[in-house]
This record gives sequence, structure tokens and C-alpha cells, in this order.
Amino acid sequence: MEVILAKCLGFCYGVKRAIKIAEEHADGKTCTLGSIIHNPQMVERLRQKGIGVVEDLTAMEEGTIIIRSHGAGPKTYEEAEAKGLKVVDATCPHVKRAQNSAQDLSKDGRHVVIIGEKNHPEVRGLFEWSGNRATIVETEEDAKNFAPCQKLGIISQTTVSDEIFIKTVTQLLGKSKDLRILRTICTATDERQKAALELADEVDVMIVVGGRNSANTTRLAQLCEKKCRTYHIETAQELSPEWLEKSNKVGITAGASTPDWIIGEVYKKCQKI
Ligand code: SF4
Repeated sequence: MEVILAKCLGFCYGVKRAIKIAEEHADGKTCTLGSIIHNPQMVERLRQKGIGVVEDLTAMEEGTIIIRSHGAGPKTYEEAEAKGLKVVDATCPHVKRAQNSAQDLSKDGRHVVIIGEKNHPEVRGLFEWSGNRATIVETEEDAKNFAPCQKLGIISQTTVSDEIFIKTVTQLLGKSKDLRILRTICTATDERQKAALELADEVDVMIVVGGRNSANTTRLAQLCEKKCRTYHIETAQELSPEWLEKSNKVGITAGASTPDWIIGEVYKKCQKI
């Protein structure tokens, strides 16, 4: 049986960078604001190194708070400063660019539209950077219902697909005579999806590795399912030999928040079956 890894899989640049920054500050008094990534195994590994997790700043009286790659709104920085906490900013530079775009468009007197998921922490941060005045557009329907305005500025969550971005922007085109569109998409998600689909086309079974709470990993599994038999697992322990019986080719992919060591364990276990 041949085991093939997707051409692009696992940690993206922003997640790699955030974890490196967190590890550099492992002193027992450091916490990340929310889980650093949607991967329970990685969060546990960091906990063992002395990096905790707090869901909000009320739980922190002292020490260092790490802003994860999704970023945070300006209120969080102000609150942390007021409490005398040290802030280590691991916001992904792509997210930072989107935050700056939200702020600039708003300062330019534009109503900001953010294309993205309403409850995603990155989008909530972008909303705050727009001066809490943006409209979050999640679907084409939301875009259709958006009321016309004088000056409009459009940005997106970094992980929105090109397809959704174009469809949504098309709905918004007639909504203002003075429109600025800033394409704040990061290509990491698209690259992983394209590579997964390409591989799913040539194998009998796909194994998608990553946190069940990771939206981008779940999306990879949903896409692969359309092409071939697909299993979404968090760790190698979950891999069942029966899934791979009678298969000639097995493909492996992993979300942007899946650590290399877990992908490696799954790869080795598949090879042994
Ligand atoms: S998906 Fe893109 S924007 Fe998000 S953390 Fe990774 S590199 Fe940064």
C-alpha cells in the first residue's frame, strides 16, 4: 500500500510563528488568550511547558499574556495594559494587515464590510479595529440584504476562500458609488484545500488529521469526502487498520493547526498497516 502526503499540509506560517513565540515565553507565568490553536494535543504540550490558557483577562492578575495568531481587538490591549500585564503579540502578520485595513477604511469615513464568520475570533477583532462599526457579511444573502451607503470599504477574514470573496463582493458592487475593496485573504487555506483535493482524486482513502474543533481541518475533511472515503482523526491512536484494508493508495492531509509530530505518527502507522 502506498501512503502519500498532500503537497501542502499542516502548520501555516502564522501558526508556526505563534507557537515559536509562545515557547520563547514559557516561564510558568505566561498564558495565551484563548487556545493558541485549535489542536488539543498542542495546547496540552504547551501546558506541560508552562504556558497556560485563559479565556479572558479577568483570570490574569500578573504575568504575560500572548495574543494568538487570530489577533485581538484594541480593547484587549488596553485592558492588559491597565492590569499591568506584559503583552506578547503573536498576531499573524496577515491578520495584522487585515486589522490595519479595517482601521484605515474606517478612518477614511467608510462603512466597513467584513466578509467572514460572525463568531470567529479573528472577525470579532477586525470588527473592533473598524471602530465597532462594521457589518459582518457571512453569506451571499447577507450581502444582498446590505443597505446601500455613501462610502464603502470591503475586507475579509484571512481564511475566506477566493470563491466566497468574489461571490460576495459581486453582490456588494452596486451598493456604493465610492467603494474600496482590500483583498485581505491569506493563501494558506486555499493551498491546503487544493492540495487535499488533488490528492483525494488519486487515492482510495483520505485521512484528514487535526483537531475536531478546527474549522479548517473539518472543511478539508468535508471537501475530501466528496472525492473518496475520508476519515477525520485527531491522533494516530484513532486510526483503524480496517479503514485501509483493500486500499492501494492512502492519502494524508492535515489542517493549518495540526503539528508535524502528529502528522508523522499517522504517516508511520499507515505505513505499518
Ligand atoms: S491561515 Fe494565514 S492568516 Fe491565518 S494564521 Fe495561518 S498564515 Fe496567518
